[in-house]
Amino acid sequence: QADVFLKHRQGHRVPVSVHVSPILDSESRVIGGAEVFSDNSSKIAALERAAEMEQLAFVDSLTKTGNRRYTERVLRDSCDRYRRDRENFAVLFIDLDHFKAVNDTYGHDAGDVVLKAVSRTIVNNLRSFDFLGRWGGEEFIAILTNSNKAHARVIAERCCALVRSCVVEWAGRAIQPTISIGVALIQPGESQTELLARADAYLYQAKQAGRDQFYGP
Ligand code: GH3
Ligand code: MG
Ligand code: MG
Repeated sequence: QADVFLKHRQGHRVPVSVHVSPILDSESRVIGGAEVFSDNSSKIAALERAAEMEQLAFVDSLTKTGNRRYTERVLRDSCDRYRRDRENFAVLFIDLDHFKAVNDTYGHDAGDVVLKAVSRTIVNNLRSFDFLGRWGGEEFIAILTNSNKAHARVIAERCCALVRSCVVEWAGRAIQPTISIGVALIQPGESQTELLARADAYLYQAKQAGRDQFYGP
């Protein structure tokens, strides 16, 4: 008995369970075999569900970016790599501006659509090996691998500009979100908490300065 994938006439693979029984003649000599094929897709579905659960543990369901737990893990890994190999990285602490007003004016569902549009815009502005995670509510953290001050500033500026140019249509009205960003680069001997605290302090400055901008070193 074996679990195999047979090629379907249409080209895709089909999971099947194959059971082979010998066919004997009157003297018990094997003169042939009978193969019974049975659909194995329920078993595969169970495996897919397991993969989906694994996915759920890492992904924020609304924005499809990394969830809080996964973001903490990526941050920790990045700090470890920096300690070990001096591989620089930058964090962007990103917060939507006056987002409570968006919810209050257009409703929570509209707010959700804005969150999706903003996070997608940011992801599209990052390189494939960078990371974006949802830190909470309307706050995101981007981790820029192998970055430096000049690079991180360029990315932060562009994130602000791209989000500023987003227009979310909602019930015949146009919502134009903006974000503020605090930028920080990892420094020798710094913990992930200290790094985030610096980024958060810069974010606060960006808010104080009128929002829709970034602050950093
Ligand atoms: P600031 O510019 O100072 O950041 O102001 P703000 O209004 O963005 O900040 P505040 O912290 O006062 O409000 C954040 C709002 O984000 C409040 C909360 O209801 C909303 N929020 C958090 N999570 C979600 C979500 O998943 N969906 C929606 N629609 N709103 C959310
Ligand atoms: Mg906030
Ligand atoms: Mg906010």
